[in-house]
Amino acid sequence: MTASVHTFSGGDALLVVDVQVDFCPGGALPVPDGDQVVPVLNRWIAAACKAHCPVFLSRDWHPRGHPSFASEGGPWPPHCLQDTPGARFHPDLVIPEGAILVSKGTRFDKDQYSAFDETGLAHALRKAGVRRLFLGGLARDVCVKASALDARRAGFATCLVDAGAKALSPEGATAADREMSAAGVEIV
Ligand SMILES: [Zn+2]
Repeated sequence: MTASVHTFSGGDALLVVDVQVDFCPGGALPVPDGDQVVPVLNRWIAAACKAHCPVFLSRDWHPRGHPSFASEGGPWPPHCLQDTPGARFHPDLVIPEGAILVSKGTRFDKDQYSAFDETGLAHALRKAGVRRLFLGGLARDVCVKASALDARRAGFATCLVDAGAKALSPEGATAADREMSAAGVEIV
């Protein structure tokens, strides 16, 4: 579980996916043990910063009445409403100076699980000279998976931080890991 942090080098970046209050125990849409990714990802964030590699943090950032909410016919309870306490990053997550935020789920007409979905993130990564992306966060079987698959589609070498990503269910984790591996995502 406490696998050592990879050594970052030029061309690497870290993406922390949706480590927000609502996705942690006690939140509106909690991922079991979701808060356990925080100390792990803090170590990865520190390592990336030490190597001067860019750190991106995505956040689910829904407007009121978002189409993903059950009240609108979507699959989820209301969560990560813009500017509410539940939408904040986990209070123990160490957000470094210079971190780049990626807000998603802001559209009125559809949800965006992936941090790459119409956010321009692939463009930002290429502009920063990134070739390999490490990622972790919540939930492993939803937004982390969607982001990892999109990172591969965009041509980035992609590594999932195993101890830094928790799933909504064990079955979901197994299926997601299989799908990500098949797409060439390395689990580290
Ligand atoms: Zn959402």
